[in-house]
Amino acid sequence: MIIVLKREAPPETAQQILDLIASKGLKPLHMPGVERVVLGALGDERVLAELALDSHPMVESLKPILAPYKLVSREMHPHDTVVRFGKTAIGGRGFSVIAGPCAVETRDQMLNTCSAAKKAGAHGIRAGAYKPRTSPYAFQGHGVEGLEILRETGDKLDMPVVTEVMETSDVETVAAYADMLQIGARNMQNFSLLKAVGKCGKPVLLKRGMAARVEDLLLAAEYLLAEGNEQVILCERGIRTFETAMRNTLDLNAIPYIKQKTHLPVLVDPSHGTGIRDLVIPMALAAAACGADGILVEVHENPAVAWSDGAQSLYPEGFERLMEALDPVVKAVGRELR
Ligand code: PEP
Ligand code: MN
Repeated sequence: MIIVLKREAPPETAQQILDLIASKGLKPLHMPGVERVVLGALGDERVLAELALDSHPMVESLKPILAPYKLVSREMHPHDTVVRFGKTAIGGRGFSVIAGPCAVETRDQMLNTCSAAKKAGAHGIRAGAYKPRTSPYAFQGHGVEGLEILRETGDKLDMPVVTEVMETSDVETVAAYADMLQIGARNMQNFSLLKAVGKCGKPVLLKRGMAARVEDLLLAAEYLLAEGNEQVILCERGIRTFETAMRNTLDLNAIPYIKQKTHLPVLVDPSHGTGIRDLVIPMALAAAACGADGILVEVHENPAVAWSDGAQSLYPEGFERLMEALDPVVKAVGRELR
């Protein structure tokens, strides 16, 4: 429920109503604006009715939040959220490009790949130290040693880094090394991980599960916000459909839809979304055209010898071409690469 107070409402009234909301076991929210104060109450709507706020002399209007997700919804927060990522920011008028290999392999592979990405214009680095692999025999990532290499690469190039955390018990460690924590598609509904990451104090990149509806994604994001973390970015990375020609079906319908429903920034991952190198540039341009706030893209100094996801990783020359092609598309939709 959104509670709009009258212009003349004194500050004590806001506090009294917030206390009343809390006394009923509901979550009170205080959203002071320039014009007037807006309050929120999250929880069982029947208990809210008992408060009879519609007859309170200082309440101007009450508006139920119809969506099942609340903190994430635009009804609650009409303006775009901008998420900090190191010294850069994601969302708003900018279009951000986060690039890097699927996995941290070696110091040289990271430095060569990421310096090429930086030279071509990338704003941040991605690379996994903990890899969720379909096969238990595939490379699982270097763990803490991978985090160290990732941090070292980011510091050398003065770029922020994002990396996946798979286990609740690793959240603190990953947060100590990374500028942003990624929750992968396979963990989108790992609710204990969501709660732990919601408390970690670092921005979060939440990827859509491969069989998750948009509403499931938004409710997963609600877990993070409900724990107090508002620095959340969503990522469309393709879903499983009857189509098997490509690794996934990149659901670009979801981008303008999600942007209508939530204030959180949305990135597109055209690498996992297609699984095929030649499709990455066209789908990245399509992502920019349909309103995404940026892309997360796999690049490798030599994809032919990559330890994971080589088939969908761009060569550094391909990444350079992508950045050149993106610029006019991003400008055409009224944004800028940053
Ligand atoms: C990744 O970004 O490296 C990754 C594993 O992605 P997803 O969780 O989308 O499969
Ligand atoms: Mn990958």
